[in-house]
Amino acid sequence: MVSGYYYDISTLLVLLCLMYAFFLQSLHRVEENTVFFSALLCGTLSSLLSIIYYLQPFHQSSIMVPFYVSSWALTAVSISLLILFLYRDRAYNIGIWKQLVFVGLPFAMDVIFIILASFGLFSGFRTAAYCCDLILFLVGINILYVYKKNTTIERMVMLWLMMIVVIAATVVEMLYPDITIQRFAIALLLAEAFFNLSDPEVQFDEDTGLLGLESFKDEMLRRYYYLKRHGGTISMELLIIQSTESFLRLLGEVNELKLRHAVISELKRIADGAAVYKIRQGIYVFLPEKGDRNEADRIHSSLLRRFESTFGNDAYEMEIPFSTCRIDLPEMAQDGAAFTDLLHMIIKSSRETGKSVIDVSELDLTTEEYMREVDEKVRNALNDGNLEVYYQPIYSLKEKRFVSAEALLRLHDGDKFIPPDLFITIAENNGSIVEIDDFVIRQVCKMVSTRNLHDIGIRFIEINLSVSDMLQDDITGKLAKMVDSYHIHPSQINIEITETSDDTFTGVVESNAKRLSGLGFHFSLDDFGTGYSSLSRIIMMPFDIIKLDKSIIQAPFVMETEQERTNAGTLLSSSVDMVRQIGAQTVAEGVETKEQLEAMERMGVDFIQGFYFSKPVPESDFINLVKSMNHRERHINDQYIQPSV
Ligand code: C2E
Ligand code: CA
Ligand code: CA
Repeated sequence: MVSGYYYDISTLLVLLCLMYAFFLQSLHRVEENTVFFSALLCGTLSSLLSIIYYLQPFHQSSIMVPFYVSSWALTAVSISLLILFLYRDRAYNIGIWKQLVFVGLPFAMDVIFIILASFGLFSGFRTAAYCCDLILFLVGINILYVYKKNTTIERMVMLWLMMIVVIAATVVEMLYPDITIQRFAIALLLAEAFFNLSDPEVQFDEDTGLLGLESFKDEMLRRYYYLKRHGGTISMELLIIQSTESFLRLLGEVNELKLRHAVISELKRIADGAAVYKIRQGIYVFLPEKGDRNEADRIHSSLLRRFESTFGNDAYEMEIPFSTCRIDLPEMAQDGAAFTDLLHMIIKSSRETGKSVIDVSELDLTTEEYMREVDEKVRNALNDGNLEVYYQPIYSLKEKRFVSAEALLRLHDGDKFIPPDLFITIAENNGSIVEIDDFVIRQVCKMVSTRNLHDIGIRFIEINLSVSDMLQDDITGKLAKMVDSYHIHPSQINIEITETSDDTFTGVVESNAKRLSGLGFHFSLDDFGTGYSSLSRIIMMPFDIIKLDKSIIQAPFVMETEQERTNAGTLLSSSVDMVRQIGAQTVAEGVETKEQLEAMERMGVDFIQGFYFSKPVPESDFINLVKSMNHRERHINDQYIQPSV
């Protein structure tokens, strides 16, 4: 009996700490708050009463029975409220009958059994009461399971674990009445639920104390989930405050702080109970309880009225440039991804037009939608088998035949292709590029080894690697293993890299390139002559080939005036000279006409790649093309250059 006393003391301590934490920060969802707080309160009272019950010398005196019964009953209330809280927290707007059947009913039975048990008539009543507790916990587990998509996996696992602990504790207490650990386990579950939903750093924006982006994402997850299961609508209001940094600086620090403060408290006043989220600097979402349309309308007009007049005090007065936008779901965005796109478009439109009211029906959503479609296709490309490697032959001006080729990836979309520039950029952004390039590397190695490229005069294949490929720690090992498994030599692979920013060729990329070069892989610098190529860094990298971009190749032929064409020609030929002087070879990309070909020959370019010879073609076409061309040239030249490996 005495041990029960200690259990309850511990329980009480945990719950008191929780209460304290609860008061330190007010949670935002008022309705659920009350439920949670009541669960906490009942748990605390229950352990308090139980402690009194155990206290000597009252213990076992008959007046203690009410303490005993109410302590038990309060535990039952606490459990039911906790389950109810889980329900509401997971399943936004849950139906009342569900709450009654799944939580109310077991709770009522629980209390009835507790009262019956207190008369000491039949010991089975006590067991029955515990069984009702167990039913409530099972309902809890079921809620967590059904609404598992509403939260992150870590949170989920923790809650599940705690549920199992509580169930185990209940069973133990049911079998061994002296070990009264159920309440303690419930206290832990309450603590878990509390920290689960109210991690303050994640939930709140530090500067304003408003709800933050993470809370908004959570909330939208819940709401969309609800929309999908139960239908309905959600309305909200978006407020964008355009950058006022320069004005604010003029105000001085104190006034600036005051102004910010004033704006935020106006936002809270206008919200009047609706949740306000700060999802980014200067971007606020007003989400009325239950997404009510009339309430969103009210917020919309209040915001307009307030922001059309000025902010400030006697010392200064200023207008704050702003945009508002009313969002109705699901009409304007069917799912979370579409919603994110919509937000981007609204923000963009606010920046571009500066209108105080942005009308979603006037936005052009097609491009965003198309991008998202492509993103989806890129992510699924490998599984769907929609990727194919094409090859574009590269011609040696000296040897008068094809000596290498560039592997260029194609993404099939029905009977069309998605433009590589587009899908490669998207793959780089969504992270699938590494996997996709792995596919290309494998295909190329396989082709080199099965098609006996040596024998038809192809010395190496150029593969495009993105910077994110080159940033991988294990890229060296991966490539070495790959060529090894196909029994080809590293020098049969030439890696093309494009300088995409000022610091592409520093740190990890550079050391990986040097290591790969040491293994025998060759490197080409792609797209020389566009945006970023900076000479000083190029000489630090082990480049064997510099590929002159088609823009500088074609410039001497397509520029408007004679003068421009001459200048472009000078630039081109001096680039070719420079590359030669640093000991690398040149590829002219994008050569389309005979005239261009002859000019390249005069300038001393080493290799030609372009539509003049061939567009990128599928593997078998490429093999046939090379065979017929090199065969013909071989007869003409009557010489066969031995491959370098
Ligand atoms: P890039 O590496 O500069 O590839 C050369 C591009 O120029 C290819 O475009 C090719 O079809 C095109 N081209 C070749 N000759 C001519 C010509 O005479 N005239 C014109 N107008 N164009 C010519 P493509 O195949 O559309 O590829 C676009 C870009 O996508 C590539 O530019 C490359 O950066 C990227 N890419 C393609 N495949 C891969 C890949 O497997 N991995 C990675 N990371 N990027 C790739
Ligand atoms: Ca390339
Ligand atoms: Ca290129």
